[in-house]
Amino acid sequence: MTKLVDKFGREISYLRLSVTEHCNFRCFYCRDDELLPNCKREDILSYEDIQRIVRLFAEMGISKVRLTGGEPLLRRGISKIAKLISTIPGITDVPLSTNAQLLEKFANKLHENGVNRANISIDSLIPERFKEITRGGDVTQVIKGIDAAIAAGMHPIKINAVAMQGVNDDEIESLIDFAIEKGIDIRFIEAMPIGEAGIGMQSHHMSEDDIMDRIKQHLPGQLTPLIASKTDGPASNYKINNTNTTVGVISAVSNHFCQTCNRVRLTAKGDLILCLGQEDSISLKDAVRSNLSDKEIKTMIINAINKKPEKHVFNESIDNISNRQMVEIGG
Ligand code: SAM
Ligand code: SF4
Repeated sequence: MTKLVDKFGREISYLRLSVTEHCNFRCFYCRDDELLPNCKREDILSYEDIQRIVRLFAEMGISKVRLTGGEPLLRRGISKIAKLISTIPGITDVPLSTNAQLLEKFANKLHENGVNRANISIDSLIPERFKEITRGGDVTQVIKGIDAAIAAGMHPIKINAVAMQGVNDDEIESLIDFAIEKGIDIRFIEAMPIGEAGIGMQSHHMSEDDIMDRIKQHLPGQLTPLIASKTDGPASNYKINNTNTTVGVISAVSNHFCQTCNRVRLTAKGDLILCLGQEDSISLKDAVRSNLSDKEIKTMIINAINKKPEKHVFNESIDNISNRQMVEIGG
């Protein structure tokens, strides 16, 4: 099997697959209010396109495919897509990233169809605040979605909260307690300057150190560092002693872990993005809809992976990435 190894020796084994640009929330750090998705059905990868692209990636060593979006549960046929992907030989891990507003309805079917685990975004437990951050979300429904995912047997379940000074930083402790009570994991995310929405958040930015100080004050002597696995990505994680919960910070800005990056991203429109913080991309939609053979498309992918940048440029050149929105990229 040809493995996907870039010119810096990093083996690519993880594909983040966005299945839609649409979202039922409008989180103010993620998407610009005026820039609504503007794509026709034929612009979006079909089931057949997705199946072929993922099969080609699997034949080159990709084993993990995360379903993301926009909000992936808004994509018609999401359970069918999960099944198509999870039954491709070589794919062993199919996590979901969701805002969980609709998860209560979908959790069982998705789990039956191969979604083994889930990351669920929840930035506040206070209903009014949650509604403000997401511009319309209902936190009660999200909590029902978390409970449904637990009951369906997805494991592990992680909640993700973007930590923002003056917005929700006073909930770091209560979000940790909530995760402990549910027996699930929690990660705090540093706000990233992606798109105008993300750049606008920089006045609320909390660094990894700011967030970790608060976690340590809340749990003195109760944290055991976890040994980072090669595939952890940009997170430093701790076990909270005598609980079933791990806590961590995803610090793609303060600390970059680009030297161990094992992932690429595919947008709903079929653009293969080689780095979250760089512009490089190629269209795999055009490739699968042309007469190219599997071998020719694999060569295109290998050539693209060879151009994967060494590192992102969040700190040096924000303008470079300001024309992409997180809602289009999938996180
Ligand atoms: N809608 C799903 C959700 O919210 O989980 C999946 C897509 S969302 C783009 C994926 C992740 O990106 C979420 O955890 C969200 O909090 C995170 N995200 C969005 N904008 C961000 C930003 N500017 N900085 C850091 N994380 C961001
Ligand atoms: Fe939608 Fe997720 Fe972005 Fe919020 S973070 S607007 S839920 S895609």
